[in-house]
Amino acid sequence: MNKTGYFTHPDCRKHEMGPGHPECPERLDAIDDRLLVTGIGDALDRREAPLASVKDIELAHEKMHVAAMRGVGQELADDIAAGGRGYAQIDPDTVMNVHTWNASLRAAGAVLAATDAVMAGELENAFCAVRPPGHHACRDHAMGFCFFNNVAVGARYALDRHGLKRVAIVDFDVHHGNGTEDILAGDERVLMVSFFQHPFYPFTGAGAHAANMVNLPVPAYTRGMAVRELIEQVWMPRLDAFKPEMIFISAGFDAHREDDLGQMGLVEQDYAWITSRVKDIAKKHAKGRIVSSLEGGYNLDALGRSVEAHIRVLADL
Ligand SMILES: [Zn+2]
Repeated sequence: MNKTGYFTHPDCRKHEMGPGHPECPERLDAIDDRLLVTGIGDALDRREAPLASVKDIELAHEKMHVAAMRGVGQELADDIAAGGRGYAQIDPDTVMNVHTWNASLRAAGAVLAATDAVMAGELENAFCAVRPPGHHACRDHAMGFCFFNNVAVGARYALDRHGLKRVAIVDFDVHHGNGTEDILAGDERVLMVSFFQHPFYPFTGAGAHAANMVNLPVPAYTRGMAVRELIEQVWMPRLDAFKPEMIFISAGFDAHREDDLGQMGLVEQDYAWITSRVKDIAKKHAKGRIVSSLEGGYNLDALGRSVEAHIRVLADL
């Protein structure tokens, strides 16, 4: 039995934000291609992501926000029927097309289905190759390429639907997961640990914050070894003391030194190392349960190699 799941769906490719946008459908192809040429794909339990229900999305988001997204999706369908281009600008970086609503429900649905499978013991852990990403999506608005916060929805689902008492979130994207913080700050059932380039988009996370948020702002050009040291000193004792029953990973790979959207110096081996340290905590406290979901990562070649390194550790390959 393959103990690592791989959740994705063709709908996640159909969401696109216009020519030249870095958060592009080809990101998923780069990951898929890499898993194919390395043979790693064969060692994974590949599953189709279901659509998340609106009720489950509302575990982390205001009803008004969910209804607004659905409404824009319907307007876009009408616009296309009338001969329009079918794009709606949500913020300067974030655009919806007619497929975005479904893709967003698939992205969150992947995390929820992975959570179900891991909780049932069918899988030890899982990677969700999904887009749109989620960690900038706030309780009541979309931003920064994100519409619904896949990992925050997953964490609330694990707590509220599966009855877990403590869930950890590890966010290693180069950008601060401001949406996840917005949704889960003060929810003492959750511990979120992250590092992020600062000062940098979205310019949050470095000031005062809730006790359940472990934020490590680091300057541009910080390299992997320095990040590893910080993780060892700051994340690990907090995670160990928290004793999470399950761990979600906001797996952004844009802190890679070849990624032009960030200016940090991580390489594939750093992602492997971080994953193995998270896995140590999961093995000690959480029966190995990890659900990892794709966030950023925009250099397609580096993204493929980094996801490979991440999955190799998850699946013991
Ligand atoms: Zn990012």
